[in-house]
Amino acid sequence: MENRIATNIFLTTLEKISKWSRERSLWPLSFGVSCCAIEMMHAAASKIDLDRYGSLFRSSPKQADLMIVSGTVTVKMADQVKTLYEQMLDPKYVIAMGSCAISGGIFNESPHVVNGVNKIIPVDVYINGCPPSPADLAIAIIDIRNQTSKKQIKK
Ligand code: SF4
Repeated sequence: MENRIATNIFLTTLEKISKWSRERSLWPLSFGVSCCAIEMMHAAASKIDLDRYGSLFRSSPKQADLMIVSGTVTVKMADQVKTLYEQMLDPKYVIAMGSCAISGGIFNESPHVVNGVNKIIPVDVYINGCPPSPADLAIAIIDIRNQTSKKQIKK
C-alpha cells in the first residue's frame, strides 16, 4: 500500500494547476476572413475534430485566446481584425492560415489586400498553402501548446 501512494498522489500548487489547464485549452475565436475559413471549419468537423485537442470555438473575443486568421485580409478589414485581437485577453496567440494571410498570396499585388497579417498583429505560427490542409491547423495548435508548455516550464 505504501508503495502505491507515490504513484497515485501528487502535491502541487493552485498556480501550477491553473497554468497547466490554460496551456492545454486554446480556445479559437469563431472568425473567418476568407476561403481558408472553410478549411478551418473542416478542422473543427468530425475528421480532425479540434474539440479532441481541447480547442472549442468561442463567439466572443473575450472568451478566446487564439485567433486563426484564415485567409485574405483586405485593407478594409484590417482595423476590424486588429480590434478583435486587442479585445482578446492575454496570453493570446495568432495563427496565420494560408498564403494569403502570410503574404497576400495570389492577391499580393493588389492595393486592397494586406500583404501579411503580421503587418497589423503579431503572428506565432504560419501555415503555408493555398488552400492549407485542415490537419496542418491541428499541428499548428499543438505547436503553440508545446511552445507555451516550454515557457511554463522555464517559469
Ligand atoms: S490561401 Fe488560397 S484558400 Fe486561403 S484565402 Fe487565399 S486564395 Fe483562399
